[in-house]
Amino acid sequence: QINCEPLKELIRTVPDFPKPGILFYDITTLLKDKTGFAQLIDAFAAYYIGKEIDLVLGIEARGFIFGPALAYRLNAGFVPVRKPGKLPAPVARVNYDLEYGSDALEIHLDAIQPGQRVIIVDDLLATGGTMQATVQLVRQLGGEIAGLGFAIELDFLKGASKLQEYDVFSLLHYD
Ligand code: 5GP
Repeated sequence: QINCEPLKELIRTVPDFPKPGILFYDITTLLKDKTGFAQLIDAFAAYYIGKEIDLVLGIEARGFIFGPALAYRLNAGFVPVRKPGKLPAPVARVNYDLEYGSDALEIHLDAIQPGQRVIIVDDLLATGGTMQATVQLVRQLGGEIAGLGFAIELDFLKGASKLQEYDVFSLLHYD
């Protein structure tokens, strides 16, 4: 396994974004670093290779950044999970609460065939609400959830406790 701890030095923390009192973990500083970005994808790939993943689902917007790179490495397809009104064909929709308000997510109804093995990826696990909502979409469509992957997990928010039934894998942890 790849030691990812040094990648923490590439993540910028921004106080009071997007609201006062919130410390935002900014991954753009990691993404622009060619070695850091490669290590990020390699570490995910090392974890999922051999698990027969059919599809990687990325959650808008930051799950779109590294989800496709991972899908390419896993020889899997990529499916976007989007904010409402963005997808052109018929969708399944889920409403959910999150740290900064409430929102909804959509997926194309034909994006997953029943029984396909999917992993869902996002940049950061906070309260777990966003991922929990996405899990519901996948279940509605009959996909088999082979894993939930995050670049960063904020352990103190205990989001993983909402996702206990699943294999949660986070590269970097913050207490
Ligand atoms: P949750 O639903 O787990 O509370 O929040 C996770 C969602 O909010 C993810 O989609 C993630 O992109 C976004 N998010 C919340 N806090 C942060 C943060 O500090 N940094 C980044 N990059 N994303 C965050």
